[in-house]
Amino acid sequence: MQVRIPFDNSYAHLPSQFHARLDPTPVAAPRLIRLNTGLAEWLGLDPDALASPEGVQILAGNRVPEGAAPLAAAYAGHQFGNFVPQLGDGRAILLGEVVTPKGERRDIQLKGSGPTPWSRGGDGRAALGPVLREYIVSEAMAALGVPTTRALAAVTTGQAVMRETPLPGAVLTRVAASHIRVGTFQYFAARGDTEAVRLLADHAIARHYPNAATAPNPYRALLDAVVARQAALVAHWLLIGFIHGVMNTDNCSVAGETIDYGPCAFMDAYDPATVFSSIDRQGRYAYGNQPRIVMWNLARLAETLLPLLHGTEDTAVEIAKDALSGFSPVFEAAYFGGLRRKTGLTTERDGDVSFVNDLLKLMAENGADFTLTFRRLCDAAANPSADASVRALFADPSTFDSWAIRWRWRLDDEAGEPAAIRAAMRAVNPLFIPRNHLVEEALNAAIERDDFAPFEALVDVLARPFDDRPGLERYTLPPQPEERVLQTFCGT
Ligand code: AMP
Ligand code: MG
Repeated sequence: MQVRIPFDNSYAHLPSQFHARLDPTPVAAPRLIRLNTGLAEWLGLDPDALASPEGVQILAGNRVPEGAAPLAAAYAGHQFGNFVPQLGDGRAILLGEVVTPKGERRDIQLKGSGPTPWSRGGDGRAALGPVLREYIVSEAMAALGVPTTRALAAVTTGQAVMRETPLPGAVLTRVAASHIRVGTFQYFAARGDTEAVRLLADHAIARHYPNAATAPNPYRALLDAVVARQAALVAHWLLIGFIHGVMNTDNCSVAGETIDYGPCAFMDAYDPATVFSSIDRQGRYAYGNQPRIVMWNLARLAETLLPLLHGTEDTAVEIAKDALSGFSPVFEAAYFGGLRRKTGLTTERDGDVSFVNDLLKLMAENGADFTLTFRRLCDAAANPSADASVRALFADPSTFDSWAIRWRWRLDDEAGEPAAIRAAMRAVNPLFIPRNHLVEEALNAAIERDDFAPFEALVDVLARPFDDRPGLERYTLPPQPEERVLQTFCGT
């Protein structure tokens, strides 16, 4: 079957220091695990052609489709605070870009597609577990309404990859608004290549922030826009209990998408200090630290832009500081606005911030499940008899009661009917999140038994995170003590 991908590449036309042009390395025996048909259609691609034997050859990196300009991109990055001047795509190859029927440009990238000049000691491959984890979690994030890269397909390679033990290999087809990272800017800034920084900034403006082009200072406008997108993004993460796990500057997208699903995890019991990543020993990327870390990453981006912001360094620094000061207001409006919506408040009153913070504090002290507390609160908003189901989530249920009295007083100020408040709350408080024990169960079945049914089922459940559906109760529940996942791994 003829696979036609209407590539329209722009990154490949940037100068040669931006990338290394090379093809993916073929694999032994590609097998399609899952094709995201909805995403394929949104991209303007034919799902049947992609799922055909020829399509699977492309998704595995065995055939380079017509019009592709495969490349590995150069980037640097701060990893856990330490600057690494040369990282780059060590196991990913960008096939090219497509413009969707609605006019949106997207990168199509193969991850796990073989070595590149940036592989260093690595094999350029991905194990099946991390590929499925990225598929599950990135698609769940999309369904939750969070800006994110997407998963178009997962294929197994028929080849083992050596990690601590041999594991089945896989390739993920990742779709992103772009793969421009804070670390991409750092790569050129660290080399003193201001012209490359300018070209990259112009490319990012044209691609993601076209309004910045006509601003009095386009590079200031670019920085403002990235600051605002990242502030809104990290607020969204907090509002659904998401922990990225490895927010290095090379994993911080200039387009403002969640990117790089390594040791990411969703929190069960609410605790701002929650860390899952096995490599995050200091808790640098703990749930509650994420806004501070995003801000730190944005300061690194601002540094790379200094020569473009103004000809005089002191003035450039002032401009950068001013732009960075835009982070807190956007973050706070998004975060506290979101918490208000999660508790059914559409109006804004003095004291709301401490009021919602009090709930979070009680949840933390009582080990209350983050997702279920807010979801069950939706029913309690319409009917106090549902309080019992919320209280039951608290180690000391009576602590919830005193907060609930204040909550009902506050809800009295709201104009909406209880049923409408409940409906609005249910639209922002998901029932289904990719809980770690469910993700782990799906990955283990695939890896150990070649059984993809749990993976398929989980992906389908998570595609509609806000809709109650009978028979899916087990997907809503926190782990039993013996099911609890204590650590997640990058698995690279
Ligand atoms: P990450 O932790 O996924 O953000 O990756 C950090 C860096 O390590 C990037 O430059 C990756 O391309 C590189 N890398 C990760 N895994 C591999 C691998 N299996 N082979 C080669 N390079 C890798
Ligand atoms: Mg990365």
